[in-house]
Formats: sequence, structure tokens, C-alpha cells
Amino acid sequence: MVDLRSDTVTRPTEAMRAAIGRAPVGDDQYGEDPSVIALQERVAALVGKEAALFVPTGTMANQLPLKLYCRPGDDVVVGLESHAVWHETGAAAANAGVQFTEIGTDGRFTAEEFLAARNPRGHLLYPPTTLVEVEDTQNRKGGLVWDRAELERVGAAAREHGVASYLDGARLLNAAAARGDDAAALAAPFDLVSIALSKGLGCPAGSVLAGRREDLAALVRYRRMLGGAMRQSGVLAAAGVYALDHHVEQLADDHANARLIGERLAAVDGVELDLARLETNIVVFRLGEGA
Ligand SMILES: *Cc1c(COP(=O)(O)O)cnc(C)c1O
Repeated sequence: MVDLRSDTVTRPTEAMRAAIGRAPVGDDQYGEDPSVIALQERVAALVGKEAALFVPTGTMANQLPLKLYCRPGDDVVVGLESHAVWHETGAAAANAGVQFTEIGTDGRFTAEEFLAARNPRGHLLYPPTTLVEVEDTQNRKGGLVWDRAELERVGAAAREHGVASYLDGARLLNAAAARGDDAAALAAPFDLVSIALSKGLGCPAGSVLAGRREDLAALVRYRRMLGGAMRQSGVLAAAGVYALDHHVEQLADDHANARLIGERLAAVDGVELDLARLETNIVVFRLGEGA
């Protein structure tokens, strides 16, 4: 049986385990783990940013931008049904004291929708919008891919109004594979970007944040605050480097397989599935009457 519940149920291959076994390690809290350093440099180059930081989970990756860019009481604009709002058990409120405004209709949104939702700083009544967060691909709405032009427009609108921007790119490499875009071009409009290693890339754990050097230096403190400063985490980072070397090309196979499953399912009586929205590795369908 092939377990298709999620791209997170993958297990490290023998070759990945061998790479883990060979990994040189050191104490990453002293910045001395060569494998972590290699992974961070690799991801920074991949997404076109100055620096990167390894964190244990995507959920922690989503917390750090809130700590860096927002004060308690601030408002964060996000797409409908974002991971940050729906799948982090209230972490943003508990850790950063922020509230969310969800916009758009399918998890994505336009620059106009962002500007309409944005609150200014210093208003008598409104909570100031200090961060806009984009999820690409969008998870709960079905692995939807953002148009690169809209990412650029949202990023530009944020910059123009002094709002920080964060790209939750847990599946950014899926987005890049689906549209033939360059991951660095997709990340370019944003101050900070994260990618997950533990989803379609098949690693046992880990996400990486990337952005400006000074922002990343500040994030080291918040990572520690949340308990994410590890020691010989090179054993995990080495899996990440291995996956970036060997698994990225297979994302297109995942998408083709998801498409095949979607097409077969869509032909079944009573199954509701919109093939026009099946672009990556997530298949969403409903069982209607008669299924
Ligand atoms: C899975 C996911 C996360 C969180 O990653 P974990 O490693 O499970 O904490 C964040 N954002 C998106 C879009 C995700 O799909």
C-alpha cells in the first residue's frame, strides 16, 4: 500500500540515511556545525537571499517572522485558511500576541485585496498591519500556486507601505516546479522566506528561513526563545543537503502522479474534484451524493 495521506509521511531513503551517517557535525549553538552551515548557505543561494537559518519545524519558521516584525496587538494579513491561522494551535497569539486578518477566497489574494485590508500605523482605533504573509503553494485550499506577477505586486505594495513581508514557502519548490519558475525569483519580493525539508523533499525534519543577514542574526535569538536552538543538528541538515541534491527533480513526478490520481477520481460518480485547481502534489475532493 502507498500511503497518500500527506507528503510528510515519507521516510528517509537508504542513501539519505547514509548521508546522515557521514555528516560532519559540531555544536550549532556556537555556529560550529559544518553540515548546518552548508545547508544554510545552500538554501540562501537557492532562494536568492543573503543568509539562512535552520529551524526544527515549519511551524517554528512561521513564528519567527512574527517575533521579528510585529509587536503584540499588531495585525498580520494572510490568505484564507493559512497554515499560520489554522494549523498552529494558536501559536501566533501565544508567542507574538498578534491577530490575523484573512483575505481572498482561495488562499491566494491580490495586491488590491491586501491594500484594502491593510491598516495604517498610528490610527486611533485600528490595529496596525505590520506584516503580510503569503503561502505558496497554499496548503488547505489544495496546493494552489501563486502567479509570480501577483507575488511581485503584493511584495511591492507591502514595501511601499512599510509593511514587512514573509513567504511561507513550505512547498515553494513545488510551486517553482509546477510553473517552471525560479525559486529565487518567487522569493525575491519578500523580506523573509521559509522552505520545508520534511514535506515533498523527504527529510525527517527541518525547515529553513532565509532573508537579509541582519534579520537572520536577530532571528537566532527568537529561535532560542522558542526552544529551537539545537546542538549537533548537522545530522538533520545533512539530510536537507542530500534532498536538495537528489529530490528536487522528483517533485515534478509527484505532481504528475497527483494529476493521474485526480483524473481517475474525477471520473468516478459522486466525486467532486476540480482538475483546474490540481497543479501540484495535493489532491482535494469531496464525496457527494451517490459516491
Ligand atoms: C506543513 C506546513 C507548515 C508547518 O510545518 P511543520 O514542519 O509541520 O511544523 C507551515 N506552512 C505550511 C504551508 C505547511 O504546509
